[in-house]
Amino acid sequence: MAQTYTMEDLKQKLQERQHKMTPQRQIVLQIFLDHPGEHLSAEDCHDILRERKAEIGLATVYRTLELLSDLGVLQKMEFGDGCSRYEVNTTDPKRHHHHHLICTKCGKVEEFDEDMLEDLEADILKKCGFKTLDHQVKFYGVCKECQERGED
Ligand SMILES: [Zn+2]
Ligand SMILES: [Zn+2]
Ligand SMILES: [Zn+2]
Repeated sequence: MAQTYTMEDLKQKLQERQHKMTPQRQIVLQIFLDHPGEHLSAEDCHDILRERKAEIGLATVYRTLELLSDLGVLQKMEFGDGCSRYEVNTTDPKRHHHHHLICTKCGKVEEFDEDMLEDLEADILKKCGFKTLDHQVKFYGVCKECQERGED
């Protein structure tokens, strides 16, 4: 598993931008730290907060997620269902992003952690002179569970 941002990193990043660490910011990041490998929308976060009896409005959740992704602590993603999702970013900028496997039946998003695009990246550099720094690869299909349910 790649090293990801921690609460301490967030505190530091907020300080650099003269922002304060608020209980809301802390509790929103904590959700992601408690759900590694998950891709959560603002609504998902809001539901989890409600389960934890934390009174934070959906608008505040949206604003906090935007701030955390501006700071680079969270990575914002779109999976084609019209709602943005977030995950904790890795701290190593040289490490390329993992791939996402998106089930078109149930909407589940899984991660595939190996890059395996090194040959393609080398080819792109050779043929186009373009140096790849990162990528977002999405595979759309049907997950194992949905296949077993025999729906396709
Ligand atoms: Zn790569
Ligand atoms: Zn599925
Ligand atoms: Zn991911």
